Amino acid sequence: MIELTKVSKWYGDFQVLSECSTTVARGDVVVVCGPSGSGKSTLIKTVNGLEPFQQGEIRVDGISVGAAQTDLPALRSKIGMVFQNFELFPHLSVRRNLTLAQVKVLGRSEMEATERGLKYLDRVGLLAHQDKYPSQLSGGQQQRVAIARALAMDPIAMLFDEPTSALDPEMIGEVLDVMVGLAQEGMTMMVVTHEMGFARKVADRIVFMDQGRIVEDTPKDEFFSTPRSRRAKEFLARII
Ligand code: ATP
Ligand code: MG
Repeated sequence: MIELTKVSKWYGDFQVLSECSTTVARGDVVVVCGPSGSGKSTLIKTVNGLEPFQQGEIRVDGISVGAAQTDLPALRSKIGMVFQNFELFPHLSVRRNLTLAQVKVLGRSEMEATERGLKYLDRVGLLAHQDKYPSQLSGGQQQRVAIARALAMDPIAMLFDEPTSALDPEMIGEVLDVMVGLAQEGMTMMVVTHEMGFARKVADRIVFMDQGRIVEDTPKDEFFSTPRSRRAKEFLARII
């Protein structure tokens, strides 16, 4: 579903990604972790073309992300992305946040978009909040709306970049619960997170990054029981 082959990227002289290769198979959950500045956000943003890269290849559902002829907006509309800072439109109600892209990008009717949006809003437990504005919701609620909004687009895969790291501790669980549910239903997911409880529960593989390189790409159990690199050992010792 998602295939990265020797992806390299530079900011001027600084190499931020060095020959990163990994695969996320259909229905798999891959957790990406590693120290701050190791390139996790950059890597995940290359997958839907939000960050250009200079070498290597990325294919999503067979489509080459870096190719000049690729219709990036069309590809992006098929990949859900949820960021650290719930990027809801502040001036739009929750319901409008859920329907806007469905209407504008997918060409759905208002009625269909509303029906689908509310279905997912219900699923994340927030149906009663459809008329509120983002500022009237807690961070955890906003993040759940952001997930519902992404799901309403019928994505073929979901990308998450530290979706819980800006949340107060008591709200982390409610967002992770939604993500665990998605994973268990077979959604293809690439998740940058340091929530190792989430990783233990639903990850198929763990990608560990250090200084722009993927230094481990291993089945979850192996990563936790016998991390190969010294950096991953140190990381796990600090985080668990
Ligand atoms: P964190 O855990 O703090 O979110 P990260 O692993 O997501 O870190 P990135 O945000 O991908 O790391 O950044 C990787 C490296 O690239 C960092 O050293 C960062 O300073 C650098 N970097 C990121 N964006 C730019 C930019 N626009 N120009 C130059 N350097 C950048
Ligand atoms: Mg980051």
